[in-house]
Amino acid sequence: MFRSLHYWLPVLVVALLIFTVVILSAAGNSRFDRLAEASAVVPEVSLDEDPPTAKELKKLVQQAAMSGDSVALAEVLRTLGKMPGRDPAAAILSSAASLSRGPDDIYWFLLQGVAGFKGPDAFTEMGEFVVRYKSKPISRDLLNALRKCKLKYVNRVIRRVLATCPQDMQLMAVDIAAGVPVRRTVDVLLPVMAREDAKERGGKKPQTALKLAIIAALEALTKQPLGNSVINWQGWWGKAREQGLKVIRDAADDHTPTTGLARPLDPVRARQFLGLEEMAAGSVLVIKGPTAANGNDTNFDHIEHVLDRINIRHTVVEKGELEKPSFKLDGVAAVFINCTQIHRFCQSPGHAAGAYTGKRLHRCEGPAPHDTVQFKMKQDAIDKLVKWVEKGGYLFTEDWCLVEVLEIGFSDFLRSGDALEGGDVAISPERGMTAHPLLRGVFVAPVDISALRRKYWEDDEDDDEDQEYDPAVEDDPGDKDLDRGKTAVGEGETPGIEEIGDPDIRLIEHRWKIDKESPALDIQSKKVQVLIDSQDLEAVCGEGAVAVTFPVKRGRVVHVLSHFGKQSSSDNEATIENLLVNFLLQVRIRSEANRR
Ligand SMILES: [Zn+2]
Ligand SMILES: [Zn+2]
Repeated sequence: MFRSLHYWLPVLVVALLIFTVVILSAAGNSRFDRLAEASAVVPEVSLDEDPPTAKELKKLVQQAAMSGDSVALAEVLRTLGKMPGRDPAAAILSSAASLSRGPDDIYWFLLQGVAGFKGPDAFTEMGEFVVRYKSKPISRDLLNALRKCKLKYVNRVIRRVLATCPQDMQLMAVDIAAGVPVRRTVDVLLPVMAREDAKERGGKKPQTALKLAIIAALEALTKQPLGNSVINWQGWWGKAREQGLKVIRDAADDHTPTTGLARPLDPVRARQFLGLEEMAAGSVLVIKGPTAANGNDTNFDHIEHVLDRINIRHTVVEKGELEKPSFKLDGVAAVFINCTQIHRFCQSPGHAAGAYTGKRLHRCEGPAPHDTVQFKMKQDAIDKLVKWVEKGGYLFTEDWCLVEVLEIGFSDFLRSGDALEGGDVAISPERGMTAHPLLRGVFVAPVDISALRRKYWEDDEDDDEDQEYDPAVEDDPGDKDLDRGKTAVGEGETPGIEEIGDPDIRLIEHRWKIDKESPALDIQSKKVQVLIDSQDLEAVCGEGAVAVTFPVKRGRVVHVLSHFGKQSSSDNEATIENLLVNFLLQVRIRSEANRR
């Protein structure tokens, strides 16, 4: 009785809070406003002494979501995160699953919220949920939200995904595993590595992508460069396991690679990223605009600077070079095109700029004569690019390249829509696209590394830390497949409420900067996949796509709205540059496959 009241009281408080919010919601200006109209319902939760039933919990979550207030929803998530058992997580997940349409922000908030839970039972629920929904976008989106999770209990999800889910989900699970250095993770990964190894039929077939990812994860977790041999890994782990990963890692030489990326990559990609240095010279090309005679740079963005910063070898040519018949794209695997001034303007040195005339130009005040030029890519150059893409080239374009290149050469796929006013908009992945290789790491909450260290290996400052260290805490003996029907809430290994840590409930908002007169995307084909979209933008111009990709015969095009280089500044947590990294990783994988 005492214990049930203990976790029942906060629920009551939250119910009252929602009640207040609903009353006040007429004046609300929260970002969940769009749902506020639908929120005429006041929560009806009876004041029983018993813990709330699963049904009552779900009602609570749904009413908080409907209240249109992110603070109230966060409060509900925080309260549920402290409760034992699987039902609180189940209530949130089923609420998210039922939001098949409607405001994306609530959907993402529910998934980010439950992924921040700390109780072990929540992970059992999440594991079974992703298996049950493995054919649905939400299973990918939950796994993506779990990329921030560094708790050993996330292995309850990873294990289930690796056992029964499709490969795109399995690759996501390995990405998560690589960030959770406890021995339970190694225990989970090794048998799957053996399973994948068997598919090679003694070297007759190539190594699977999953096996390669697991090797990268194991090397990152253990800091042991044991390579591709399952026997080596199993033999080593059999002896080393009892020491625990902390001792193993502390003793290892750490050769963690450094990149110029604003934010470190997850371990699996960090290893793949190293391979980019092995790409042949000349395989990455940037096409830019010239400097006009008056000294003005016609480039509105410089993707070559982003490539410089992250140490990707590349060649830069002006678009005039590409136009020469002698210029060949043979041997080029990836082309980036900067957004440039494509309209006519006067480049006479010394002429003064007058009033703004649109198209990012000012009237030239002369005096006459004017030296009027236009640096727009010629048809021959565009034809050359189209043929190259069709043969397998990967093309990355931004902003006005839509007008200059795509709607000329690829108009069956994409054309330019309304010219936008500019500003910045909230963005989110298209639902389910979080499993797309181009979106790896793009929508991931930042990890608090120091909090993480405190969590795994308590008392950093403690001198006799090593004597306190117990490798068995890295295990998870409570990870069993339970029959849900017969399992009472709070049964088994479930700790009391005091022992469940505060959930990490933060709504990570990603934003995209749009410069004045950037064209919206007008999608022409079902082959165009929207990777990132924005409901704010959709409200403005009817099309919310911010980043899209489409295949063209053997090649691929990625286009982003407005300027890519301006998205990778330090705000926005620099995750957007992962889109470019992922693009290059795909280029490398493809060009390696072609060489074989
Ligand atoms: Zn531009
Ligand atoms: Zn002039």
